[in-house]
Amino acid sequence: MPQKRNSSPARSPRRAPRQVTLIPGDGIGPEVIDAALGVIDATGVNIDWDRQLAGAAAMKRYGSPAPDQLLASLRRTGVALKGPLETRVGEGYRSINVYLRRELDLYANIRPTRSFAGIRTPFKNVDLVIVRENTEDLYAGIEHQVAPGVVESVKVITARASRRIAKFAFDYARRNKRTSVTAIHKANIMKLSDGLFLNCARTVAREYPKIKYNEAIVDAACMRLVTDPASYDVLLLENLYGDIVSDLCAGLVGGLGVVPGANYGKKGAIFEAVHGTAPDIAGRNLANPTAVIMSAALLLEYLGHPDEAARISKAVHDVIKAGRHVTRDLGGRAGTIQMRDAIIAAMA
Ligand code: NAD
Repeated sequence: MPQKRNSSPARSPRRAPRQVTLIPGDGIGPEVIDAALGVIDATGVNIDWDRQLAGAAAMKRYGSPAPDQLLASLRRTGVALKGPLETRVGEGYRSINVYLRRELDLYANIRPTRSFAGIRTPFKNVDLVIVRENTEDLYAGIEHQVAPGVVESVKVITARASRRIAKFAFDYARRNKRTSVTAIHKANIMKLSDGLFLNCARTVAREYPKIKYNEAIVDAACMRLVTDPASYDVLLLENLYGDIVSDLCAGLVGGLGVVPGANYGKKGAIFEAVHGTAPDIAGRNLANPTAVIMSAALLLEYLGHPDEAARISKAVHDVIKAGRHVTRDLGGRAGTIQMRDAIIAAMA
């Protein structure tokens, strides 16, 4: 069987040193981003960081969660390392994450989800890649009240977006020597919207005869993921299912603190962890920096530094396997800073 490995889908044509937008984010964001900066620094890769505020931090400073200079920076650099941003539940401004992904047309969200030796979980060899459509579905944000007590949220699925995310998933699978792509859907109920998504996936699949194509209904797929995750490889999902299923998959490998993510488009890329601002542990040196550090490794790969990316990834795996300097969520007693320092030491 071919060796599985994960790598970014595209390389930036330019070499470092180059400017990269840095968004520390809200809650635990600044702590984990700081840890990632220390680790990148230790690789010797020279990056000119353009620090920008977004989300609650920008709201406080500039009165806008997405100030003009943030967009200008992202358009100029085309690439960012980003901490999580706060979005209030049921009130306040719309998600800045969704806004940024749509504004830059970062249509593909990739979440490589792999087991770590040293983290005790029910399964040892989870190796999944979530490919999530990032620009439409219920995240289009089209909601209205029809009458008091009756609201509608519109699910938008287009053939164009469905085809391009399916193509991305198959291209990713081919480039990374993965064996299968499974489209996850609920087309038995949403016959038009999920039916269109599925039809597009089927059409694209025919162009990749060497990669197995499967389909699974989302509820059944969730059950199978928690009983037999090895039966899946690359998962292709619409926006909402992708969001939910990727957190479920994070649970299979040790939680939200360890899963990295990247948003890719034709104009650029934003690298960020799957997790949010974790307000319950923010500012207390408790956050696990792994997810953002692994996202930083994906960033280095994208910038054309695969060896340095591999060094980071190996050091993170080594530190977690040793188990002496890991954070509380992984059963250890180290703080964010101590875990960062152990990772840097492991890179030496
Ligand atoms: P969350 O991911 O912030 O936290 C869920 C749980 O996981 C909490 O118990 C938290 O302590 C824990 N956790 C998360 N990251 C961790 C880490 N690195 N180390 C250790 N434990 C960690 O999810 P939530 O509580 O649903 O959301 C909080 C806020 O984050 C909300 O405003 C939400 O909108 C936002 N959010 C942002 C992003 C993003 O910016 N990409 C993603 C998800 C959620």
